[in-house]
Amino acid sequence: MEAHNYDYLVVGQGIAGTSLAMHLMDLGKKILIVSDSKSPSSSKVAAGIFNPLTGKKLVKTWLADDLFPYAKGFYADLESRLQAKFVYETPIYRPFRSIAEQNTYLAQTADPKIASYVKQSGDPADLSAYVRADFGGLEVIKAGWIDLPVLLEKSREYFLANDSFLDEAFDINALSVSPQNVFWKGKTFKKVVLCQGFFALENAFFNWLPFAPVKGQILDIETVIPLQNYIVNQGIFTFPINARTSRVGATYSWDPLDWKPTKEATAELKEKLDAMFKIPYQIKSEVAGIRPSVKDRRPLIGVHPEHHNVAIFNGLGTKGVTLAPFFANELVQHLENGKELNPLVNIQRYFSLYFR
Ligand SMILES: Cc1cc2nc3c(=O)[nH]c(=O)nc-3n(C[C@H](O)[C@H](O)[C@H](O)COP(=O)(O)OP(=O)(O)OC[C@H]3O[C@@H](n4cnc5c(N)ncnc54)[C@H](O)[C@@H]3O)c2cc1C
Repeated sequence: MEAHNYDYLVVGQGIAGTSLAMHLMDLGKKILIVSDSKSPSSSKVAAGIFNPLTGKKLVKTWLADDLFPYAKGFYADLESRLQAKFVYETPIYRPFRSIAEQNTYLAQTADPKIASYVKQSGDPADLSAYVRADFGGLEVIKAGWIDLPVLLEKSREYFLANDSFLDEAFDINALSVSPQNVFWKGKTFKKVVLCQGFFALENAFFNWLPFAPVKGQILDIETVIPLQNYIVNQGIFTFPINARTSRVGATYSWDPLDWKPTKEATAELKEKLDAMFKIPYQIKSEVAGIRPSVKDRRPLIGVHPEHHNVAIFNGLGTKGVTLAPFFANELVQHLENGKELNPLVNIQRYFSLYFR
């Protein structure tokens, strides 16, 4: 049998590639991650929020009871492994817009499926120094944000220290695949997993999948008073990242689908923030990115229809922080032990698009 230099080639070091690589290393696999630090990344732009109850209707995030405990354990372990701080458990304060909304939300939160994600006792939050909340609000718990740029940079240093990282552009045309192996630049791998976010669309192996990418923008602002340690969420979110600076987001747009902030998106965020905030602030910076979303809003995970040693880990959409750890483990179990993937995330659901 032919010798393998490596077990896995992982392409892309966003939150998908990073979570996957960490899980593979935990199993003692020899891996190489190739990612281009000069190329844009959704994870580097993301606000990093994890929120178990989302949307106007306060809906429980899909699979929240599985995803949240798994992600919590993964990120806590990763902080210890990397000797870094990037997890900020922070409650989400949702001001009620009206008495009617107050009644609807309070009735909803009596549902036992939702109740464990809502603060039920203790003093109610008082953010009246800066938030308009004439009807009060509710507090979502088990929420917070991950400082993804710190997580990604510390992970990159860790991969480099373990001889597992190459900072360069990956050209799919330099990859060749045989039934037993994957070859790239003179190296031999058992498998390759493509974790390229939006750039999957440039890759002939998987560009037939129904991606529906969505651009988003966020702002950093400086406030005249320090904000309390809450994520305030009412259509948009804002939360303090240090004593003076807070993050605000996010927009959803499709045209143009690029990585540049726009005046229109800034104006949209400013208008929503002005409706929520009582205090003056100054905009310090703006960033934009492209979310790797999917038509059916479920991840795109699994093995290529014809090449059993070429896999994809993508489609994390608006919820990369919550989805990546759990599904990295599911994919690794699938690739190593043949564990069935959840059919709702398995790319098999779209194989008819490949064979048509
Ligand atoms: C404005 C905004 C706000 C967001 N807020 C949140 C939030 O609060 N919470 C949340 O959970 N999610 C949020 N998201 C979504 C989140 O960013 C994504 O779900 C997640 O980052 C996707 O991760 P990924 O690893 O799949 O892709 P990416 O982070 O884009 O990573 C792909 C990596 O692969 C590299 N790559 C691709 N092709 C190549 C190649 N050929 N050669 C070399 N390198 C390559 C890219 O450069 C990149 O580094 C937000 C997104 C945006 C845009």
